Amino acid sequence: MKEKAYPFSCPICAKVTDFPLELFVEGAVLTCPFCKLSLRLHGHMLAYIQKEIQELKESEKIPGE
Ligand SMILES: [Zn+2]
Repeated sequence: MKEKAYPFSCPICAKVTDFPLELFVEGAVLTCPFCKLSLRLHGHMLAYIQKEIQELKESEKIPGE
């Protein structure tokens, strides 16, 4: 079974890293493996990502979620 991931674009170096969907919660800290930026998820950024994830799930029709 393929693990679901969201392709997150780093705001500093613009490189894309796939992080597991469960990481995208309020207060979570993502670290970019390229430039080592640590980014805390909150507010409108998190809301934007969660909306994208929701669309991703609906487009892929993940059962049980
Ligand atoms: Zn980066």
